[in-house]
Amino acid sequence: MTDRLNLPSDALAVGLAVRTTEVDPLRDRQLAMASAGFYAWDWDMATDHLAWSHDPAPLLGPAGPTGYPDFRFQVHPDSRSAFLAARRAAIEDDVALDLECRLKRTDGETAWLEMRGSVVRDAAGIARRIVGVARDISDLRHRDEALRRAEAIQSTLLACSPDPVALMDHAGRVLEFNPAAQAVFGWDRDEALGRTLAELVIPLEMRSQHAAGLARYIETGRSTTVARQMDTRAVRRDGTPVDIELSIVRVPGENPPIFTVFLRDVTELKQSRSRIEELATRDPLTGLPNRKLLIDRLEQALAGARRDGSLIAVMFLDLDRFQDVNDTLGHQVGDEVIRVTAQRLRAALREGDTVARQGGDEFIILLTNLTAQGHAALVAAKLLAAIGAPCTIEGHEILTSATVGIAVHPADGSDAATLLKNADTALHHAKESGAGGAQFFTRDMNVAAQRRLALETALRRTVQRGEITLFYQPQIDLATGAPIGFEALARWRHPELGLVPPGQFIRIAEETGLIVPLGEQVLRAACIEAARWQRVNGQPMRVAVNVSAHQFRQKSFVDVVRSVLEASGLPATCLDLEITESTLMTQGTDAIAGMHALGDMGVQLTIDDFGTGYASLNYLKRLPIDALKIDQSFVRDLLTDPDDASIVNAIAGLGQSLGLTVMAEGVEDEDQADSLLRYGCTSAQGFHFGVPVPPGQVVPYITMPRHRR
Ligand code: C2E
Ligand code: CA
Ligand code: CA
Repeated sequence: MTDRLNLPSDALAVGLAVRTTEVDPLRDRQLAMASAGFYAWDWDMATDHLAWSHDPAPLLGPAGPTGYPDFRFQVHPDSRSAFLAARRAAIEDDVALDLECRLKRTDGETAWLEMRGSVVRDAAGIARRIVGVARDISDLRHRDEALRRAEAIQSTLLACSPDPVALMDHAGRVLEFNPAAQAVFGWDRDEALGRTLAELVIPLEMRSQHAAGLARYIETGRSTTVARQMDTRAVRRDGTPVDIELSIVRVPGENPPIFTVFLRDVTELKQSRSRIEELATRDPLTGLPNRKLLIDRLEQALAGARRDGSLIAVMFLDLDRFQDVNDTLGHQVGDEVIRVTAQRLRAALREGDTVARQGGDEFIILLTNLTAQGHAALVAAKLLAAIGAPCTIEGHEILTSATVGIAVHPADGSDAATLLKNADTALHHAKESGAGGAQFFTRDMNVAAQRRLALETALRRTVQRGEITLFYQPQIDLATGAPIGFEALARWRHPELGLVPPGQFIRIAEETGLIVPLGEQVLRAACIEAARWQRVNGQPMRVAVNVSAHQFRQKSFVDVVRSVLEASGLPATCLDLEITESTLMTQGTDAIAGMHALGDMGVQLTIDDFGTGYASLNYLKRLPIDALKIDQSFVRDLLTDPDDASIVNAIAGLGQSLGLTVMAEGVEDEDQADSLLRYGCTSAQGFHFGVPVPPGQVVPYITMPRHRR
């Protein structure tokens, strides 16, 4: 049961003071209390009965049929011990009762109650009653809790944020400085709080601008930085710079304003961005721009040149015989040669010119703002001279040279693609014609380039269809005049161009890689043919097959030879592989092992065009070579040029001392044959003994009496 309480005046001592002149002050006071949400209570200690100033249902929940339960049981278990302790203290220690406790309302809800009260004692000092006021503070508590939660979330967010965050007041003073900010900028939170953010992280030269910006915002509400994101620079405690992404956000509802300042450290991001940029536009070996960047610059330069009418030159520069360096001295030395070349080119050019690496041993050079075409030639000459200086790499003295093709805007093209293509064409032309040096693009070259492309396409088709045919040229024993074998020479009959000389199509085949299938076809056809001669003739007859460097570099080459021999039934000793001297010199260790494997099989190895390359004695001794074939150029003038005679003499002597057969090629008359025999050559080949013939004429040749040949 709840009794209505006539509020005793001493209850008002607790937290309430009402002054009034009304007729019924007591009722007015009750009214005032009720309207403020206060309930006065009076707790009789003898009966433990609690009387309320007015209906406490809003506070305790609706009363049951028997009123309210004992108040002590309405106190929530969570708060009960605190409540009892406070009551005891009030009674025993005579202190004011003052606590917040949780309440189990009769409707099952919970509420927070604030209770204040004092003990009323009798004359003997014995506690009789406790009187006081109570009010529902649930809403307050919820608000507090929400606030506390918000604060907890905010501080964990700040603490855990991987990015520096600071709170700043309207004067720029730091209110909060999170751990990431401490780590990045080197200031402790304690040091940071109260100082201005500017003096902590903003570079000296930017501080006044920052202060002015902040002041302007405070005054006008306008700013170039607030609520925006910008890339800028900050500084650490030790003075080192930090690239940051800055955003300043005004905290809503705060006036004067408070700002959250995000200072994301993007130093690494920037570095990796620029590294990616570099990777995308730079050649990793030399650090030079790559083709992509060069094209960008070329396009920019073209736009400028179209406006001011200046000339632009695009040059393709290619090292000569670079593959030889790679093959003989290894890729590391090759890479170093490329690096040295890059440095030399860079050093020989003006600041505004671009040199890019196109890949391999090819460079592209862009010259801008030329006033005359001749200037490009001068620059090219300068570049070639720079490259021509000898350099020493890993103890090897290396002499490099290069070839340059030049195309000039506007004469040779108005767009990047055409200029690049034409410079490339000029380069190829210079290389192929053997002219070397530097060559300007001309319209004729396009014709030549087109013809070459057409040949390439046609050759590819011919090789695919296996339509290369072979002619055979006899090789004879100089002493007896008897044929000992035939050299297989490839022939290509083009439907429109007629017979294309091997000098032309073999080079195309080598440059396009077609030489591998082509060479295999030649080998197969020659072995099948030679096996047939043997069956018809009843005695062994050798066939010589030319093998190019490209084929030799194939790992499978030895296996190909073995399977072709097996399939054709030709004994290995009847196959003679001709390798040019320069091919021999550019082989790696794999190819040398291959040669030994072939030698072990019984296949003959002959060095072709001997005397034109640089085979060292050492090589000749180490490799399983059977024969040297003296190049035709020495035979041609044998009778008239004493130098050639002595070279032939020396080669023959060398062959003898190494136990090698020495053959001469290109023998065109009797006198040449006679002197070759005298110098010590043992065999020969040439028009004098027989021109290359189609397969059908080989057997008749062998069986023909000697005087009729
Ligand atoms: P090579 O291996 O030095 O072949 C000899 C060349 O000299 C042949 O030219 C031949 O016809 C020519 N010749 C023969 N006797 C005389 C002569 O008395 N006087 C003159 N002036 N020339 C003579 P061909 O057939 O035009 O071949 C040229 C080159 O093409 C060959 O030079 C060889 O390096 C290459 N070649 C030909 N067939 C093949 C092949 O199947 N594979 C490879 N890799 N190269 C081949
Ligand atoms: Ca040959
Ligand atoms: Ca030859």
